[in-house]
Amino acid sequence: MAEPTQPVEVVCPRCRRTQIIYIPKEAVPVCPDCHVKMVLREILREGKSY
Ligand SMILES: [Zn+2]
Repeated sequence: MAEPTQPVEVVCPRCRRTQIIYIPKEAVPVCPDCHVKMVLREILREGKSY
């Protein structure tokens, strides 16, 4: 059974750069400027709780 991909916004905690990724297909990226791991900002899909 395939997990549905869903878009999430990740943000760099240092420079505030944002990027949209699709989980679980893509891993949380590292900011190319700060070299720190970006953090999930918001689950864009509504109506689903974990
Ligand atoms: Zn950054």
